[in-house]
Amino acid sequence: MHYISTRGNASNLDFAGVTLAGLASDGGLYVPRAWPTFTQAEIKAMRGLTYVDLAAKVMAPFTAGSLSEDELRELCAAAYGSFSHAAVTPLTQLDNQQWLLELFHGPTLAFKDVALQLLGHLFERFLSGGDKALTIVGATSGDTGSAAIHAVAGRENIEIFMLHPHGRVSDVQRRQMTTVLAPNVHNIAIEGSFDDAQAMVKRMFGDSEVTSAITLSAVNSINWARLMAQVVYYFWAALQLGAPERKVAFSVPTGNFGDVFAGYVAAQMGLPVERLIVATNVNDILHRALAKGDYSVGSVTPTAAPSMDIQVSSNFERLLFDLEGRDGSATAERMKIFEQDGKTALTDAMRSKAGLFQSARADANEMSGAMRWAYEKCAEVIDPHTAIAIHAARNAGISADVPVVTLATAHPAKFPDAVERATGVRPSLPARVGNLFDREERFIVLPSDYVAVRDHVLGHAARA
Ligand SMILES: *Cc1c(COP(=O)(O)O)cnc(C)c1O
Repeated sequence: MHYISTRGNASNLDFAGVTLAGLASDGGLYVPRAWPTFTQAEIKAMRGLTYVDLAAKVMAPFTAGSLSEDELRELCAAAYGSFSHAAVTPLTQLDNQQWLLELFHGPTLAFKDVALQLLGHLFERFLSGGDKALTIVGATSGDTGSAAIHAVAGRENIEIFMLHPHGRVSDVQRRQMTTVLAPNVHNIAIEGSFDDAQAMVKRMFGDSEVTSAITLSAVNSINWARLMAQVVYYFWAALQLGAPERKVAFSVPTGNFGDVFAGYVAAQMGLPVERLIVATNVNDILHRALAKGDYSVGSVTPTAAPSMDIQVSSNFERLLFDLEGRDGSATAERMKIFEQDGKTALTDAMRSKAGLFQSARADANEMSGAMRWAYEKCAEVIDPHTAIAIHAARNAGISADVPVVTLATAHPAKFPDAVERATGVRPSLPARVGNLFDREERFIVLPSDYVAVRDHVLGHAARA
């Protein structure tokens, strides 16, 4: 499989190349040259596979040329062996129409483990025997950071620098990053928002002073391998609910547009998807873009669902590229305008091409209401992010014969205060995360200043 940049001006890479590179050199994101497809018969034959076997089947077209299906299966077995549930991502019924896909059984209790546990193994495989050393730089609104750190802590030839907005992630989220004391882990608290941190990371990738000195890689969902790993669970859930004979809708708590874009990829590959519901909190740039064509940056309002407190959704560019007819120069032009003006308008033609998506926004009351509904009517304690998507799922007007699967992206114990406020129940951390609150923390605080952050990274980066 060959990968091309959404901005049409970077060299094509194979799967190993895009995994190690992250962002393309022209500032674009890598996507497969064409979407691979499965026939309905091939999809039907996937029923009943274990998660690991299904993962290898679904991802094999994307890794072809770099990994065989058997090699991929071995890596998946290693990655998903770290999950605490035998089904890896179990599907739970809420009512006659609503279902929950539990994606939080990995080591850091959020769905990001599903992709990042695999990515850690992919990095190790593609670096082994070579003379490359990787410096991973990432920005996190909370959950990516800990999942990435857990995926690469202690691995050779890798240093990881994780930027988080100081004071804007939950205590559990912060401690899951800062209590990992492996020497290759560097936590940086930025005195700014997630968007400030993400902008600095993006800038480092385009800064020749950095890229000439060290090999940078990304673990944010701009890394294609992450999206690829997330495609698998759309197949997994839909197959259990009758695919390919029956369509399924998905409701996805959305921030950087990575998780829901993976659902779009599953649909491009032939999975019959009725609808993809993009659920946002009050930071609703994606809702405005999809509902009205208005993709314009607002200011970030901190909420109880911090992993969705985002106003610039990196992966939206991958969708824009498809909506532009996969025209790299048109996408580059549009993104240049967006980066200058903070806004771009989607044409009616683009919006109608995006017809698989529906969007919704939930405020704090609607979020708490959804947590209460799940607890009182379905005996399920859900986290604030999941609650936003449950609210959207229940109000989406999907026909009653279509099952709606909400992606449960975090364990409720990651956000105990918000859950307790809404339901009166304080969820406790699963025993497997251990004595998080007794362990030593290590991180430094830096101002929201590009040069200070860059110099810190250069001073501690990996060198082969
Ligand atoms: C990261 C995250 C999201 C948002 O996912 P995107 O892929 O960025 O859209 C939602 N919920 C939780 C709990 C997360 O950690």
